[in-house]
Amino acid sequence: QPVIQIKDLTKTYIMGQTQVRALAGIDLNIDTNEYVALMGPSGSGKSTLMNLLGCLDTPTDGHYELDGKDVSKMEDNELAQIRNEKIGFVFQTFNLLPRQTTLENVALPLVYAGVSRSVREARAREVLESVGLGDRTDHRPNELSGGQRQRVAIARALVNNPAIILADEPTGNLDTKTSIEIMEIFEEIHNNGNTVILVTHEPDIAEHAHRIVRLRDGIVESDVRNEEIRRAS
Ligand code: ADP
Ligand code: ADP
Repeated sequence: QPVIQIKDLTKTYIMGQTQVRALAGIDLNIDTNEYVALMGPSGSGKSTLMNLLGCLDTPTDGHYELDGKDVSKMEDNELAQIRNEKIGFVFQTFNLLPRQTTLENVALPLVYAGVSRSVREARAREVLESVGLGDRTDHRPNELSGGQRQRVAIARALVNNPAIILADEPTGNLDTKTSIEIMEIFEEIHNNGNTVILVTHEPDIAEHAHRIVRLRDGIVESDVRNEEIRRAS
């Protein structure tokens, strides 16, 4: 049973007299525990698709089912709840709260989920340990390196046990060595049974994934599994 089922998804932005067709009919199924890289040139629709996958926006037309729920026609308040329950976000710029500690940043999604403080802290500690930051729980973001900040953000994305992890250029602000460390963490997350979808421009990063979906002009141009990628190169 796919965790993501997308059929004929379109998104048209309207700006005054002009219409921009950002997505022109996307069909895409992603199974639980898949590890997918989303690629494509600038303007091909990657951000738009990620915004729809992440329930940050609704499609103009078409069907999107996430973890058994039809989210394509939901109202904003329902979408907000789905986001908090089912999606973990990781961004290029980390998006941590600067005045909060590592532990508080990671526990934040559980505050919205109504989890008690002691359970929140125990769970946040557990996830921080799993990304190798068990000894940094009381640090603030400016006391951490870029790679450590991204690991905090990954821990925050995992803390709710989401159905999917969406990462938008997660290594875009990191040097090569740190990028490799972060990609090893995504591999581990995948090995633990999670579904990971990441956007990247970099072939070296994309080849860590097990499936590469390429967009062009708002449609899926190609969709290739790892073995085929390896065989072709
Ligand atoms: P990518 O992430 O691959 O660069 P985008 O999804 O950002 O692609 O953009 C796809 C197309 O939709 C582009 O032509 C872009 O200019 C347009 N677009 C994206 N977001 C908006 C928006 N909020 N309003 C109007 N046009 C947009
Ligand atoms: P990326 O670096 O992921 O390709 P973009 O630079 O295309 O991202 O877009 C960054 C943000 O700006 C996105 O949230 C997108 O929806 C929005 N955006 C992109 N193009 C336009 C546009 N023409 N008008 C308004 N917003 C846009």
